[in-house]
Amino acid sequence: MLSPIQEYIELLHSRYASSMEGQVADYIPELSKADPRWFGICIATRDGHVYEVGDTRQSFTIQSISKALVYGLALEDRGEEHVLSRVGVEPSGEAFNAISLKEGSGAPFNPMINAGAIATAGQVLKKDGKSRIDRVVEYLSGFAGRDLEINQSVYQSESETGHRNRAIGWLLRNFGILDEDPNETLETYFQQCSVEVTCRDLALMGATIANQGIQPVTRKRAIASEYVDNVLGVMATCGMYDWSGEWIYRVGLPAKSGVGGGILAVLPGQLGIGIFSPPLDKQGNSDRGIKVCMDLSRELALHMMNPA
Ligand code: GLU
Repeated sequence: MLSPIQEYIELLHSRYASSMEGQVADYIPELSKADPRWFGICIATRDGHVYEVGDTRQSFTIQSISKALVYGLALEDRGEEHVLSRVGVEPSGEAFNAISLKEGSGAPFNPMINAGAIATAGQVLKKDGKSRIDRVVEYLSGFAGRDLEINQSVYQSESETGHRNRAIGWLLRNFGILDEDPNETLETYFQQCSVEVTCRDLALMGATIANQGIQPVTRKRAIASEYVDNVLGVMATCGMYDWSGEWIYRVGLPAKSGVGGGILAVLPGQLGIGIFSPPLDKQGNSDRGIKVCMDLSRELALHMMNPA
């Protein structure tokens, strides 16, 4: 017999599988190769139960979802005060790639916009003979509970077309937010965005955060428990591009989306949700993903601010 959760997500999947709204991202040429019909929904509980339907084992690139997790690594490496002196935690209300830095300090508004994510990548230390990107991939793998890899074609495509991000990198260098030549940090950032995940990985990453940083399947710690609330805080306020306010109002879960079509959402203390569907709405969020999460939140009463 199917569990009620499994039955419910199958129903949700069939509700939106034929919806064809939104556009697959094409500003990074490799991303335009995604099939707009790909659609997966996965829920992982903090004790490691996984419910999945659709294209939950299809690989795609993590893109901006990495920003939330790498913020945790920067906090672990440098401590909260130092990181806050380089990157703020204020929603910007602007597009993810906006060239907007705080007046005076030049600090990016938050770690979820590209400027803040590039500054955050620059905070990650090279350690134990490992490069920044090796540490980032290892860190992300800890949340997924398996060894993740970089999609080299997407990385090349990002690096060849990332002129705007390069401009942001040099501005950050100008303001002393980045201490070194930004090129290496930018390549780290492009590679971090090109790490391949599945929808199932996203749900397990979410469950790891929901579980105070312990990966529910491997039982290994992925993030120091003291920084879990910081990561959830920036996801809740800034995670869904310039739809973050609407999202927390309507769905009420800390979340982060990426232009590859992924959404990772967390119900703290309980579960992680992974959605994958490449066509994006005009804010850059997965169109089916938003629809599914709105229904999930309402129909399962998951809104964090509703104590019922
Ligand atoms: N690598 C992408 C960029 O920097 C990430 C964008 C995203 O997922 O929002 O443009």
